[in-house]
Amino acid sequence: MFLQRSAVAIARRAAVAPALRRSLATTAIRRDAVSDPASKKIKTFHEIKTVDDLIGPGAAPGTVPTDLEQSTGLERLEILGKMEGVDIFDMRPLDASRKGTVENPVLVRSAGEEQYAGCTGVPADSHTVIWLGLSKERPVERCPECGSVYKMEYVGPADDHHGHHHHGPEEPKSFANYVKPEYW
Ligand SMILES: [Zn+2]
Repeated sequence: MFLQRSAVAIARRAAVAPALRRSLATTAIRRDAVSDPASKKIKTFHEIKTVDDLIGPGAAPGTVPTDLEQSTGLERLEILGKMEGVDIFDMRPLDASRKGTVENPVLVRSAGEEQYAGCTGVPADSHTVIWLGLSKERPVERCPECGSVYKMEYVGPADDHHGHHHHGPEEPKSFANYVKPEYW
């Protein structure tokens, strides 16, 4: 709508003053060059170095943008990764080929302070999903239904050592706090 109207305005004014036509036409072309996605190269997954690279070129005027054109941030990184077969969030299901034990737990990778893991038993879907809350402070949890043990493996950024940050609610004290520490 906007483009159509401005094009009509340009044509109208151009009919009045030929000199004005030249300058307006140049302006119109320059604006198109800036907003044309083809003129901005889409960075590939391996060309992403900083968060500033995670901004799409946007869609050409008058078109509906695709996710590749307009997504930003982590969503953009995920899409660019998928295009090259890299699953940045590691969405594979957990290992359900064996039951985790305290000595050899099923590892759950997490980039955050906390991670919820859903257990459906061994083999998978043996019982309804039971959600286990794993955290950096308390990484090991056992499924109350099948007994499988899971352990959170922290893969996020290293602690910045700017004091101890507490995210989320504090772990409630239980009887285990007052007995042997290995009961944790
Ligand atoms: Zn289970």
